[in-house]
Amino acid sequence: MVADTSAVLRWIDAHFDDSVARLRDFLRIPSVGADPAHDADTRRAAEWLASELRGIGIEASLHDTPGHPMVVGRAEEGRGPRILYYGHYDVQPPDPLELWQSPPFEPVVVEGPHGPRIVARGAVDDKGQLLTILEALRAWKAVHGALPVPVTVFVEGEEESSSTNLEPFMEGHRGLLAADVVVVSDTLMPGIDQPAITTRLRGMVYAEVTVGGPAQDLHSGMFGGAVVNPIHVLAALVAGLHDDHGRVTVEGFYDRVQPLSPEERRSWRELGLDEGAILAAAGVDRSVGE
Ligand SMILES: [Zn+2]
Repeated sequence: MVADTSAVLRWIDAHFDDSVARLRDFLRIPSVGADPAHDADTRRAAEWLASELRGIGIEASLHDTPGHPMVVGRAEEGRGPRILYYGHYDVQPPDPLELWQSPPFEPVVVEGPHGPRIVARGAVDDKGQLLTILEALRAWKAVHGALPVPVTVFVEGEEESSSTNLEPFMEGHRGLLAADVVVVSDTLMPGIDQPAITTRLRGMVYAEVTVGGPAQDLHSGMFGGAVVNPIHVLAALVAGLHDDHGRVTVEGFYDRVQPLSPEERRSWRELGLDEGAILAAAGVDRSVGE
């Protein structure tokens, strides 16, 4: 079956203002997950989402964790692979407040270089992206009556604070979350006119390293330069994580890294990314390594 998307896109255009109004409602909830003073707000964002999903006709509920609740919605419609959409409803703290030109949780539309855009904390991370998925589901159901494939919507409230409860929750709810395809809403697009489907993301590794040294504080005039300073050892350790070409020197680091295929290299080249513009945005004039 070839799905008819043109009617869905027309429906989305015709109801654009309603979608923006819902996004504004979502943005007004100060779901600062890392700040306990906002715990009630953060939960309210989860409840708001679950109720939106139900409004679309997708069964949804909150699952409590030791931290913020998980929102899981499931639609058992259509046939074929199950798609799981992941996103997060928590936002970064808005500090420093004095740098905001409008209140962070009162969305405003401002004219930008590419047209009007909404400014509010979380608008582009991740509430805006997340709602595009909900609005697409809503539009599809409004036009076609039912989704073409089974869908799961999985939204957490701790992405901005290391997703502490994500992995244990996934381990404990394998059946609920089982899916054939996962689509992560929390990614970027190369440019305003270049929507993207991101197929890989970098990961992070944390390590706590303790370097021992002298038994007590030493006087620099007496011992400076004569004994090893632990800060020099730490600095050498950190500097040694990369070689002169920026390659990671940690043993085994590249063992499971797959080489890029010629097609991938070609498609990346075709994106036409402007390295100079990227470096300029970072305020530097050269890049290093990977
Ligand atoms: Zn995010």
